[in-house]
Amino acid sequence: MPDATIAHPIAIWPWPEAATLLFAFAWGAIVGSFINVVVHRVPQGLSVVVGRSRCPACGTPIRPFDNVPVVGWLWLGGRCRDCRGPISVAYPAVEATCGLVVAFVAAIDLVRGGGLDRVLFQGDWRPLLSWAWHSGLLLTLLTWVLLLNAGRTRT
Ligand SMILES: [Zn+2]
Repeated sequence: MPDATIAHPIAIWPWPEAATLLFAFAWGAIVGSFINVVVHRVPQGLSVVVGRSRCPACGTPIRPFDNVPVVGWLWLGGRCRDCRGPISVAYPAVEATCGLVVAFVAAIDLVRGGGLDRVLFQGDWRPLLSWAWHSGLLLTLLTWVLLLNAGRTRT
């Protein structure tokens, strides 16, 4: 008979915190995907809302299921599905960086100090607003840095 006072590792693993960080990373990576579009198109004077992402080599639109941040680039081995032309590692790197930044801010604003509990059980939205505000500031700075370097880091 197992001792009831010793919790199973699965039971003591901080699932809500882990799920929060995973969600924050995924959200950051999705925003990073849009930042890639901004950094790639704005210097060329193109719209960031109209037009789908295309392979830089052959111009074929990227399929929606290949356009998953970070993962899409990985399962295609960094190559276009159609022409096998290389797709810059800068794209998944930006997505992963944004994911990490947003997850890091979530660790501070939502996980540390029980911010998530305040949001979920006390109706206090301030930790969530702090997370959105701090993430937004950092990602805006990151976008500026990438825009300043655009044209030097990618072709
Ligand atoms: Zn291609």
